[in-house]
Amino acid sequence: MDFDYDLFVIGGGSGGVRAARVAAGEYGAKVGLAEESRMGGTCVIRGCVPKKLMVYASEFRQAVHEANEYGWQFPEPENFDWPRFRARLEGELDRLEGVYRNLLDGSKVEVHDTRATVADPHTVALGDGRTVTAKHILIATGGWPEVPPLQGADGIGITSNEVFHLDELPKRLLIVGGGYIACEMACIFNGLGTQVTQYYRGAQILRGFDGEARGHIAEHMERHGIDIHTGTNVLDIKRTESGIRVKSTTGREETFDQVLFATGRRPNTAGMGLEEAGVKLGRRGEIAVDAYSQTAVPSIHAIGDVTDRLQLTPVAIREGMAFARTVFGGEPTEPDHVLVPSAVFTQPEYGTVGLSEEQAREMEPIDVYCTSFRPMRTAFIGHDDRVMMKLVVSQETRRVLGVHIVADGAGEMIQLAGVAVKMGATKEDFDRTVAVHPTISEEIVTMKSPVRSG
Ligand code: NDP
Repeated sequence: MDFDYDLFVIGGGSGGVRAARVAAGEYGAKVGLAEESRMGGTCVIRGCVPKKLMVYASEFRQAVHEANEYGWQFPEPENFDWPRFRARLEGELDRLEGVYRNLLDGSKVEVHDTRATVADPHTVALGDGRTVTAKHILIATGGWPEVPPLQGADGIGITSNEVFHLDELPKRLLIVGGGYIACEMACIFNGLGTQVTQYYRGAQILRGFDGEARGHIAEHMERHGIDIHTGTNVLDIKRTESGIRVKSTTGREETFDQVLFATGRRPNTAGMGLEEAGVKLGRRGEIAVDAYSQTAVPSIHAIGDVTDRLQLTPVAIREGMAFARTVFGGEPTEPDHVLVPSAVFTQPEYGTVGLSEEQAREMEPIDVYCTSFRPMRTAFIGHDDRVMMKLVVSQETRRVLGVHIVADGAGEMIQLAGVAVKMGATKEDFDRTVAVHPTISEEIVTMKSPVRSG
């Protein structure tokens, strides 16, 4: 049977674009791709990239303060010019979207700027009424912020989709949630001069990460002015003349200029015609796939956040490349989800790879090496901020099972530590590596005795 395309990709985010480019560019497949919003997806348009630029912007106030303590004489920064920053940010996102489009163009991928849904295992219905056929369909539609249902809250509050487009910087901001996005945004807005309150329903922010690292970050965030309330959720929310009035489950009543819901993301599968075509979905709407990203329908694959395996851009890209190699390169390739390093861009950053102490302890006897100290740069000017480094080590094999770094630049450090851990480095391999002095990261190779064992 003749198809219009060898591959049709639905979704122009990091994963979909990479899969399309590799299938077309490296393997010569005829590829079409549909994107209903802007090319680049969550990472480029409303996630990692704008977030990281906001992190940079938010760090300057503290930097100026520190510079003055070092002997410079800068006026203390006053108001952050949000509209000026936002205009520049929008320009940068336009530029990056253009880069993505050029890359697709260069690989001869045909782009359709419209919504696309699955009509049957080989047919895609486009938003403009046309249908196209493809030998293979790849779903790479990502995820979408999920807001808890609250009576009367319709239209009140924003999500990470809107946070980069605010007309003005809120003076008082409530952030709901305790995950990656909530904590990163709390630190960003705090740095920009907003008064930030954070409600988290659980006992400690950043659930799932190493306990000690979570405590360290929370303490640091609070010391720098973020008002964190754990065991707290929103009960009632309404717009009043003086702002958004929020009642909490703990009886607090406060007024904010803006409320940001960072309460998780749901896979983008609704109304896509997937189940009707035979694709199986999980409880949260995520697409169920096998190790090769194939769904229950052999001609339909899925990669990235829509499969809810690891919601990280570089993972989606790897999944896209593995898919293309498997289906068009004739080399069955499983994307590797083991020992994936990642960073939470809080201030200070948290870089992590492997198991938390709690996860490792459930699996085998471990030795834990941990240190916390005041780094030279800020200790010099009398700051109490501390960094934390931790190695979780198997007693039996001596392999390093987990590395946890809470420090400025931890995201950069963990990329390199991740190589060692991925190679199976033991604690003794770390020990025989000579320290780079004077750095923060040298402490990772100089921890002598375990602080806990068992
Ligand atoms: P997360 O799953 O990390 O966090 C969601 C938070 O919302 C949790 O604290 C959760 O609480 C809370 N929550 C969920 N439902 C409710 C509710 N009904 N009421 C109150 N609180 C609620 O999601 P994010 O949206 O922050 O991030 C999504 C994913 O995106 C992350 O998992 C990550 O993989 C990725 N990401 C990665 C980044 C990076 O690499 N730096 C940055 C940003 C995102 P509880 O803990 O109790 O479930």
